[in-house]
Amino acid sequence: MSLQEQSSLNKKFLKNTINNYYRQKILREPPLLPMREIAIQPIDSKTYVRHLSFPSMIKLYEYVTKKTPLHLYYSVAVYDNPSAEDMEAKGLVKADIMFDIDVDHYSGCSEVVTLCSRCGYVDKKDLKQCPRCGSKDLVKIPQVTIECLKRGWFDALKLVDILENEFGANKITVSFSGSRGFHVRVEDEHLTRLDRDERRAVVEYINMSNLDLSRIVPKIKIRGRGVKAAFSKEREYGVRARLKMLATQLLEAEDYGDYILVDYRELSSLIDAVRVEVDTVVTIDTSRLSRFIYSINGKSGLAVCELDPDREFNYTYKDFRIVDGVVKVRPLYDTPKLMILDQEVKLRKNELMRVDAYIGFYLALKNLAIVVDSSDLEVIRPCRLST
Ligand SMILES: [Zn+2]
Repeated sequence: MSLQEQSSLNKKFLKNTINNYYRQKILREPPLLPMREIAIQPIDSKTYVRHLSFPSMIKLYEYVTKKTPLHLYYSVAVYDNPSAEDMEAKGLVKADIMFDIDVDHYSGCSEVVTLCSRCGYVDKKDLKQCPRCGSKDLVKIPQVTIECLKRGWFDALKLVDILENEFGANKITVSFSGSRGFHVRVEDEHLTRLDRDERRAVVEYINMSNLDLSRIVPKIKIRGRGVKAAFSKEREYGVRARLKMLATQLLEAEDYGDYILVDYRELSSLIDAVRVEVDTVVTIDTSRLSRFIYSINGKSGLAVCELDPDREFNYTYKDFRIVDGVVKVRPLYDTPKLMILDQEVKLRKNELMRVDAYIGFYLALKNLAIVVDSSDLEVIRPCRLST
């Protein structure tokens, strides 16, 4: 079989699987759907199709099952004319605030294996160009463990607390992005009306970038006791409340009338523990697109899943899979052992192997292997959704 025939076999497999998945009609309908811009990246295309709009989910499903999206998005914004191509002409009404928590900035969570799809060179580094043949046609395989996702979840919860307690938000949705992190979305009316500059101020507050701690917690010099920070025993708010809570748990606190005193230098070491690193660009951009809940993330083949912030993160990658069963694949490359999602896989070029269907789906998406037999594959509802 020629390479072209093999790759068209893969395309067919991916198309069938994606279309069958969307035929389940389980996408979460965004509020005010007709006023949202919809965008997709069709499987046959390297570019996005933007500025779509649909009056109903029925029409959206008709389109989606025809175009087979690798990625499916809707605007965080609500517009008067969502399908206008010019941003001005769209007429922004309001926009949900999105926060992106990507786990790849944690130490030990940024590992990526690069494979050159021209010559098959494999490197456990995140490369921009193949050092052997110079090609830039590279496949990236993130090596993100579930432990890394747990760290991201912890930050997502910290962010939810700040949004609830300090911004008065209560329409908050947290979702697994389908890949390397979490999305936190806020839909409270008083926040969706904020403009770019106001959103930037929100992000700076959460990131604590440009923070001058002494303006929030003044330094107090007390004779014979050194430099101290004082917190009211009664009541504290915002960043001060967060710092006080941690300080009383972790530092030695002295009683001082209506106040407690802690060592200033020790207090400043707690800053990282009370801040949350979020991507500024994502949050301030009101023209941003966001993934539909229960859509497929075409980078991983996993579903975008809403998660309950009141429950602990006890998921595995398998909980986000959209297919069940086992498939037979023909690898296109030789590789050392790789982490494909949560499984260790070693590919031997042209040696048929059986893998779990979600691993096969991932290998096909990245064009690392051809799925030659998928008769045992079953499309399923992801995210522990009951049937
Ligand atoms: Zn190469």
